[in-house]
Amino acid sequence: MLFKNIDLIDEHLQDLKDMYVGVEGDTITYIGNQMPADTARYGRVYDGKNKILMSGFYNAHGHTPMTLLRGYAENHNLQDWLYHYIFPFEAKITDADCYWGCMLGIAEMMASGTVSVSDMYGHMQASIKAYIESGFKVNLCNGLMDFDETPFSQNRNHLEECNCFKLYHGAENGRIKIDKSCHSVYTSNRKTVEELAIYAKQTDSIVQIHLSETQTEVQECLEKYGVTPVQYFQDTGLLDNFVVAAHCVWLNDQDMDILAKNNVVAVHNCMSNLKLASGVADIPKMQEKGIRIAIGTDGCSSNNNLDMFEEIKLCAVLNKGVRLDPSAITTKDALAFATQNGAFAQRRYDCGSVKVGNKADLIVIDADCPSMQPVYSAVNNVVYAANGKNVEMTMIDGKIVYEKGRFFTIDVERAIYEVNQAKRRILGELQK
Ligand SMILES: [Zn+2]
Repeated sequence: MLFKNIDLIDEHLQDLKDMYVGVEGDTITYIGNQMPADTARYGRVYDGKNKILMSGFYNAHGHTPMTLLRGYAENHNLQDWLYHYIFPFEAKITDADCYWGCMLGIAEMMASGTVSVSDMYGHMQASIKAYIESGFKVNLCNGLMDFDETPFSQNRNHLEECNCFKLYHGAENGRIKIDKSCHSVYTSNRKTVEELAIYAKQTDSIVQIHLSETQTEVQECLEKYGVTPVQYFQDTGLLDNFVVAAHCVWLNDQDMDILAKNNVVAVHNCMSNLKLASGVADIPKMQEKGIRIAIGTDGCSSNNNLDMFEEIKLCAVLNKGVRLDPSAITTKDALAFATQNGAFAQRRYDCGSVKVGNKADLIVIDADCPSMQPVYSAVNNVVYAANGKNVEMTMIDGKIVYEKGRFFTIDVERAIYEVNQAKRRILGELQK
């Protein structure tokens, strides 16, 4: 594929006009302001007039099959929502439900410019099937929980992660990755986390966690262990690993220093935090401390969509408003969180920016519409004016998976039908 005369947001997040970008196989092989010499080798030539080409988004924290619960439980805080609505519903989800819920979420992400997700959910094999078939990228983990004294070596979530790690880690030329996880301080016990810390180190795994999401979580941790959740995870050795921590809303100065020292990636899930009334993470302060920030949608039931454009804009404007500082998060910052930093959080070092040699995870945004004109700066319009519906094409590892409303790897009608079937069945079971 050769994109010609297209506006490009390059690896430095600068706007370049009338550029040429060549893709061969799964890799970006040419970027220039001139037509490359041998155009025949690229196959399809794509006319980029009034289009913007940029890196796809890397959603750094989600629970993809939770599309099944979109709009199911509203107006509750995290604890009520989880224990009284989400966990009972999830107990009824089958592998087949999970597969179709995952497919629906993947379709939604593809159509709104996301190419990869860090996904924490059970029924891992069902999700893996969906990710393999759809061509999407994933860093999948289970969300390890431990409510009783079951030894770590027999923990169901851990065993499923181990099994999937052996079978699928690095599959599809690295597109599928299996991470380790600890759902949270409040759903685990100390011994398990200590053993997880050792296991993750032995397997050199990324560990995905929920961290200091609510004030209640921090208070309960202080009462139970005498330390904050951040200190708890440090004391257990977990932070010696490559840790990706969702939320990070209720951090004190010392917590932030610990995260910075341990190179923890903090994932901002601003829509979810606002919707569940959890609070607002202090992203500018974390940046000042040197913490790397990525962006996630969280699960669909606390958002209620998977549109990264919404998260990017909200991340920027929310932090400006709270800080009373219009320069608190720049457009480039917000875009870097969702692309380069997201790819980093998945240890996809050859992804996340449009650069020769990088994977061709690209999206085309249509600027030929009222809401995207005029274009003074493609970056500014992408951050503040665009939404997922402006995405015209999504390419993952050089393959077009979505273009102008058409999905090439997913039967979306079937996914919608199956998710509705699951919804009806589960609601019926819950009412019994
Ligand atoms: Zn989450």
